[in-house]
Amino acid sequence: MSESVLQLHHTGATEKWQQILADLVTDPKELLQFLELDPLQLNLDPRVLAAFPLKVPRPFMARMEKGNWQDPLLRQVLPLDRELPVAGDLAATDPLDEGHSNPLPGLLHKYHGRVLLTVAPHCAIHCRYCFRRHFDYRHNTPGRQAWLAVVDYIRQDPDIREVIYSGGDPLAAGDRQLAWLTGQLETVPHLQRLRIHSRTPVMIPQRVTTDLLQWLGNSRLNPVLVVHCNHAREVDDDVARAFNRLRAEGVTLLNQSVLLKGVNDSLSALRELSETLFAAGVLPYYLHLLDPVQGVGHFDVAAARGRSLVTQMQNCLPGYLVPRLVREQAGAGAKLAVS
Ligand SMILES: *Cc1c(COP(=O)(O)O)cnc(C)c1O
Ligand code: SF4
Repeated sequence: MSESVLQLHHTGATEKWQQILADLVTDPKELLQFLELDPLQLNLDPRVLAAFPLKVPRPFMARMEKGNWQDPLLRQVLPLDRELPVAGDLAATDPLDEGHSNPLPGLLHKYHGRVLLTVAPHCAIHCRYCFRRHFDYRHNTPGRQAWLAVVDYIRQDPDIREVIYSGGDPLAAGDRQLAWLTGQLETVPHLQRLRIHSRTPVMIPQRVTTDLLQWLGNSRLNPVLVVHCNHAREVDDDVARAFNRLRAEGVTLLNQSVLLKGVNDSLSALRELSETLFAAGVLPYYLHLLDPVQGVGHFDVAAARGRSLVTQMQNCLPGYLVPRLVREQAGAGAKLAVS
């Protein structure tokens, strides 16, 4: 987390989650030694981390299985030389063309009736498959004056019913900042819902603070939290408890996953993910095909395979535990169903 955000927004003592954010594992050697794996076997080209550094929160690392290079949690964060561009690489750095739906700093207006606010420039983790790894957040994290301009834009457009806090990861921002912004948005009469897309409660369940429960649970906006969980083993007791506290405040919990080769591209992994999430109070929502951004090809699962896996899920799970298989399409007003 950038120092400025920490200093600007926390009030009293540094909270536990902020300490965890200030102490992320950034050295692959430390990660691998913790997992009792030989760092020499990684032999990483330094350009990989220069392009997208390693960031792993310790509570997430603690859920990885020792001695297993194929651990599905490790694979999501393990940098590999395969991320480097090869000559003739056609994959884009802005696959969703988000540069064109960015009318004000901090605001993405690409879906009808809802807008995305990029409220934090960073994440609590760096997922190697991330489609936003090339996005220029520095010009998209406004100060308060600029946020007021965003609120004004929303006020002018009565079609906008929902605000989505996005990032980066919006919960990498502090509660004071988020409570302030939410208070501003509550003054817009036609806004009905506040949705947060965040991977932080799964990575660092300590992020679900009393303050967070207060500003989110007491908001007049109907709160939705979309957690981004890709594998059942990401949900341990602490995470399940954090979900429970959110639900007790009336927050609707949904999950969206990315279909990732070597992480969750099997019927058993997807089934267990849906069942584990539901047991913790979260409904499956979307299963995304990977966005074809440069550097993530080794996670790619073919659309036909995705369709087959979802069909198999339909055959062994109730409909409410089967996520919708979707992909993003540049310029489209919604995600495209893959059927
Ligand atoms: C897809 C997506 C949205 C919009 O999703 P809908 O549920 O279709 O409105 C918002 N934020 C993120 C991060 C998304 O991936
Ligand atoms: S948390 Fe989301 S935005 Fe952040 S690195 Fe992971 S996939 Fe990307």
